[in-house]
Amino acid sequence: MAKSTLHCSFCGRNRDEVKILIAGQEGHICESCVDHAREIVIQEVESKQDPKSGYKLTVRKPMELKKHLDEYVIGQDEAKKILSVGVYNHYKRLNQPKPAKKQKNEEAEEEIEIEKSNVIMVGETGTGKTLLAKTIAKLLNVPFAIVDATVFTEAGYVGEDVESILTRLLQVCNYDVAAAESGIVYIDEIDKIARKSDNPSITRDVSGEGVQQGLLKLLEGTEVLVPPQGGRKHPDQKLIKVNTQNILFICGGAFDGVDKIIARRVNTNAIGFNVNKNLQDAMKNNLLKFVNAQDLKTFGLIPELLGRLPVVTYLDPLDKETLRAILCKPKNALIKQYNKLFALEGIQLEIEEPVLDFMVEKAMEYKLGARGLRSICESILTDAMFELPSSSEKHFKLTLEYAVNKFDHARMNLLKVA
Ligand code: ADP
Repeated sequence: MAKSTLHCSFCGRNRDEVKILIAGQEGHICESCVDHAREIVIQEVESKQDPKSGYKLTVRKPMELKKHLDEYVIGQDEAKKILSVGVYNHYKRLNQPKPAKKQKNEEAEEEIEIEKSNVIMVGETGTGKTLLAKTIAKLLNVPFAIVDATVFTEAGYVGEDVESILTRLLQVCNYDVAAAESGIVYIDEIDKIARKSDNPSITRDVSGEGVQQGLLKLLEGTEVLVPPQGGRKHPDQKLIKVNTQNILFICGGAFDGVDKIIARRVNTNAIGFNVNKNLQDAMKNNLLKFVNAQDLKTFGLIPELLGRLPVVTYLDPLDKETLRAILCKPKNALIKQYNKLFALEGIQLEIEEPVLDFMVEKAMEYKLGARGLRSICESILTDAMFELPSSSEKHFKLTLEYAVNKFDHARMNLLKVA
């Protein structure tokens, strides 16, 4: 007999290698095996509990989706429409009745399999890509996770495995696996994992292509064993099985320089034709309108990945008018939020019209886009929000003079792009 002394019946360690050895009827267990067993029990119980996450998919028609998006996202009509149809088709596919089991001798009826409609959105940073995906997920009442493609590396390298995308999704819905399996994942900065060779302007290591390869299965639909806490798979960790078949992946990226690729293609195609005025204007406004999978391939995404992202759309850059609308129009527009913040203090906030133009101008000047509007508002209103709660004022009028003064004093100048 090899082990005559007492030992843990689970890990095999001897009495002198462990702190505690608990005796059972026919064996023993050490303290670390007790810990592991406890973790497994907790995870198992949690995964079997009724869904507590509160997520329950509500499918909406494309027009309804678009209308809802209109309330939160300004402009971007084309992206909204394409996304609404893509999302609707995706969830229609998910809800389609399962084919009845065929009798052995029954002739195989034609089965049409609807493929996933994962989406890729191309548009400058800060134009509303994440906002679109987030807003749609909220309306559908499905779990939504945002991940950044740049944190992933090929398996075996330092960085996160692509499976951690699913960890993020599971965490969002409190490990409700069924809910996660019909969730939406937004993968940001997908352009940063472009293959370098096809795109000399991207200074990225070679692992970009490896990450694209890693994403393939996930995007297509497969069963993945996911480490519940993320990070590397640990031999002792109990993994959660997640099927990605019905998870909708929406990818977004700025694809800096893709306009040149599009221009080259469009021009080449147009040689010998009289390019009409409308087309010329459209080309001048936003070349991204013409983006297609071919351009993204030239940019450095591998064809297999593009094949799994069949819905391609674009976002318009934000002009002054749009920025102005973003400030005031969406349901939770910044100005509405500040009005509420002041109102909660019992103060009526009145903002003069030219102040709004000033904010927009500064956002354009500093190339901050919509994301910058908030920091501009903060730099102008912080002093008021600091002082007014301790005063007896019931009304605060934000004049242009006040706004310019506060803005100049704030450190915004540091952000100025040379
Ligand atoms: P992206 O993902 O394209 O980089 P985001 O969706 O994160 O940009 O946008 C950043 C912020 O700017 C959003 O949270 C939102 O407040 C605002 N924003 C950007 N574009 C729009 C838009 N078209 N309509 C309304 N708000 C917008």
